[in-house]
Amino acid sequence: MADRKQDTGVRGAQTVDVLWAQLVRALHRVYPGEARLMAQWLLEEATGISRMQRVVHPKRPIRAPARAQLEAMLQRTLSGEPLQYVVGYANFRGLRLSVTPDVLIPRPETEQLVEQALERLPATPSVRVLDVGTGSGCIALALKHERPEATVVGCDVSQAALRVARSNADQCGLPVTFVQADMRQPDMHERTDGPFDMVISNPPYVTMDEAPSLPDRVRAHEPAVALFAEDEPLQYYRALAQQAGRLLRPAGQVLVEINEAYGAAVMACFRDHGLSEVLLQQDYAGRDRFVAARRSGGAPAQPYTSATAR
Ligand code: GLN
Repeated sequence: MADRKQDTGVRGAQTVDVLWAQLVRALHRVYPGEARLMAQWLLEEATGISRMQRVVHPKRPIRAPARAQLEAMLQRTLSGEPLQYVVGYANFRGLRLSVTPDVLIPRPETEQLVEQALERLPATPSVRVLDVGTGSGCIALALKHERPEATVVGCDVSQAALRVARSNADQCGLPVTFVQADMRQPDMHERTDGPFDMVISNPPYVTMDEAPSLPDRVRAHEPAVALFAEDEPLQYYRALAQQAGRLLRPAGQVLVEINEAYGAAVMACFRDHGLSEVLLQQDYAGRDRFVAARRSGGAPAQPYTSATAR
């Protein structure tokens, strides 16, 4: 093969098989466990070549502009930028969602949070759900996708995140309302047009002590406002629990993702604020990851009439 080979790049590769080998080799040095997966994602993004096409047509030529684009994406990836920011999107429960450094990259645990929400949501057709700290909109949009008759509202303190969430709603064709609100402010129910049958949230929950042990990819690139609970790891859970009486309809539920170190603390916080049926659940890795609770008192939520359903 007469191709000019570069040490870490792919610019010289003329055909897909050569380009593939160089791409995998470059990624393998930095991400040994994920090199092939990452390589295929980058290849497909820059050239449109699927795994099947790559295997079936190994001698397919790659044009210079696609090679240059791939090279640029490769270098960003090798310098530590998360792949989802490099390609500009993440997959979440079958949805393709745009992600920028203004929003957290959706995690598999959060897909599991959505699964739990779907199991716990009342079967009433016009059920209303609020996603607090929506970021990319992943939870809100997945819920709307999988329970189309539900009314779903997402809120976030960050206007930049809301722009990403709204554009994701447009892209996916999912009618979810996104509004600006800070969950620590007492006017949340007014801003979000509560009350709801469920309030769901994946709030910031990494403590400052844990910051040094986060992977560089996370710490250096993902938004601090979405990650860190600063010096008060329970503040967002407390804020939600304090407002549960206004945010939730009688018997409405709270469902949150948590830091595995704070299971007991979040449960105690919810109980202290009068929530009942407080339940701790684990993620697929067996770590304490989710807490569910119910607003006490009152009859179970009644279906909305057509006049009040939106
Ligand atoms: N689970 C995320 C992480 O590992 C943190 C998400 C959050 O703070 N809500 O980085």
